[in-house]
Amino acid sequence: MSNTISHWRNNETFAGSSTATSPVTNPATGEVTGELRLASVEDAQSVIDAAAAAFPAWRDTSLAKRTQVLFTFRELINARKEELAAIITSEHGKVLSDALGEVSRGIEVIEFACGIPHLLKGGYTENASTKVDVHSVLQPLGAVGIISPFNFPAMVPMWFFPIAIAAGNTVVIKPSEKDPSAVIWMAELWKEAGLPAGVFNVLQGDKTAVDEVLTNPKIKAVSFVGSTPIAQYVYATATAAGKRVQALGGAKNHAVILPDADLDLAADAMVNAGFGSAGERCMAISAAVAVGPIADDLVAKIAERTATIKTGDGTKDSDMGPLVTKAHRDKVASYIDAGEAAGAKVVVDGRTVLDGAGHRDPAGFWLGPTLLDNVTPEMSVYTDEIFGPVLSVVRVESYDEALELINSNPYGNGTAIFTNDGGAARRFQNEVEVGMVGINVPIPVPMAYFSFGGWKASLFGDSHAHGTEGVHFFTRTKAITTRWLDPSHGGINLGFPQNG
Ligand code: NAD
Repeated sequence: MSNTISHWRNNETFAGSSTATSPVTNPATGEVTGELRLASVEDAQSVIDAAAAAFPAWRDTSLAKRTQVLFTFRELINARKEELAAIITSEHGKVLSDALGEVSRGIEVIEFACGIPHLLKGGYTENASTKVDVHSVLQPLGAVGIISPFNFPAMVPMWFFPIAIAAGNTVVIKPSEKDPSAVIWMAELWKEAGLPAGVFNVLQGDKTAVDEVLTNPKIKAVSFVGSTPIAQYVYATATAAGKRVQALGGAKNHAVILPDADLDLAADAMVNAGFGSAGERCMAISAAVAVGPIADDLVAKIAERTATIKTGDGTKDSDMGPLVTKAHRDKVASYIDAGEAAGAKVVVDGRTVLDGAGHRDPAGFWLGPTLLDNVTPEMSVYTDEIFGPVLSVVRVESYDEALELINSNPYGNGTAIFTNDGGAARRFQNEVEVGMVGINVPIPVPMAYFSFGGWKASLFGDSHAHGTEGVHFFTRTKAITTRWLDPSHGGINLGFPQNG
C-alpha cells in the first residue's frame, strides 16, 4: 500500500501545489512503498519563507530555552531510535543494526549541540584602549539549507541541524528522494519536543527544490553532502549567490596494509569497511593496498571471511542488505564486469547472489560482496567511486608506492593504515593527503566533538561538519567596542581612531 510523503512546514505536513511525484521503494522487496511529492519553485519558496519568518523569534529565544528543547529531542529520539532505524532500513535497505548505528552516531551530535552555551561564549577584553572595552559575540545566520544524500538518511542531516538550531538558526532540509521518511519522522519528534513552528522544515524534491535553496536570498548558508559533481555544482551556485557553503563530496578510500600488520585484524577490517552497508558509505574502504609479500595471504583471509557474509533483507538476520535501487545495483555490477574484462581476478563474485535463495525476495536489488585482486590504477573499478560492495586489492612493492597512490587520487575523504610499526603510522598520518585517517581503524569517522570532512574533491568549502567547525559554520562573529566611563571628548577629529 503506497503512502504520500510530503513537505513539512510550520510544524505541519504541507502538500504544496506541485503534482509531480517520485516513487520510494523498499530495496529488499522492490515494492513501491511511497509516493514522494516533488516541490515546485513555489512550494520551495513557501517552505523557505516559513523558515525565514521563524528566525527572529528563535534567534531571540534564550539559550536556556533552546537547549531545553534540544535535551528533550535527544531523550525522545534515544527512547524511540529502533523506530527510526526501521524506517531507514525500509527505504535504504541497510541492516537494522547498521541503521541503529547511524542513529546513535547522529544522537552524538545532538548531545554535542546540547552544550552550545559553552560553545557560543564570545571573548571580552577589558581596557583594550583607555577605558575602552571590546567584546565579541557569535550570532546565528538566519534560515539555512541542508541537502543530504541517500546513504545516511538520518545521520547526515543530524551532522548539521542540531548545531544549526542550537545556535539559533532555522533550517530547511532537502532529503534524498530515495529515502525521505526518516527526516519527516524527526520533524514530528521536534514538534513533540517543543520546537516552535518554522524552525525545522523539510522540503521534498529534486533539482528544482535544490536550486531554489541554492539561490533564494532568504537562505543564508548551505550544508550539502552527496556526490562530487553535485557538490561542486552546489558550491559554485550557492557561493555565487553570496551564501556560506560547505559541500561534502564523494570518496575513494584506501587502506594500506604493511607487511608487519596483524593480517587477521586487517582482513576483518577490510570486510567490515568494504561491505558494511553494502559499501554505500562515504567512509567505506574501496581499495585495499597490499604492500610487499603479504598480498596472497591477505587476499586468502579476506576471501574466507567474505564467503561467510549473509546478504539478505535487513530486517531478517542478514549481515548485508541490498543496494538502494535497481539502477544502482546494475551500475555497480557493471563495474565488476569491467574490472574482470580489464584483467582483475574475481576472487569472490557477488554477481551470483541474485535470486530468492535464503531470505532474499527475488524482486530485491541484490548484489553480494565482491573481492577483486590484481586491480591496477587504470581500471574503472579503481578510478571511479563505485559505492557498492566491491573491494579491490591493489598490490604494491613499498610504503612509498602506497602513499603515492593515495596522494595522487583526486579524492581525500578517509584512509587507514594497518601496521605494528609506530614510526610508519606516524609518517603516514603526517604525509597522507586525506582528511580523516585511521591507524589500525578502518572507518575513522570522528566523534561529534571533532569535525568530519575530507580534502580535495571530497569537500568544497572551508568548514568540515560538526565539532567546533560546525559551530563556526553556523554562526558569525560580531565585535563590539564600548566606552562608558569618562568619555573623553577630543573634539572633532577625522583621523583614524588610535589606541592609547
Ligand atoms: P547525489 O549527489 O546524487 O545526491 C545528493 C543530494 O543532491 C540529494 O538530495 C539529491 O536530491 C541532490 N541532487 C542530485 N542531483 C542533483 C542535481 N543535478 N542538482 C541538484 N541537486 C541534486 O548523492 P547520493 O547518491 O544521494 O549519495 C551518495 C554520494 O554521497 C556518494 O558520492 C558519497 O560518497 C557521497 N557522500 C559523501 C559523504 C561525505 O561526508 N563526504 C557522506 C555521505 C555520502
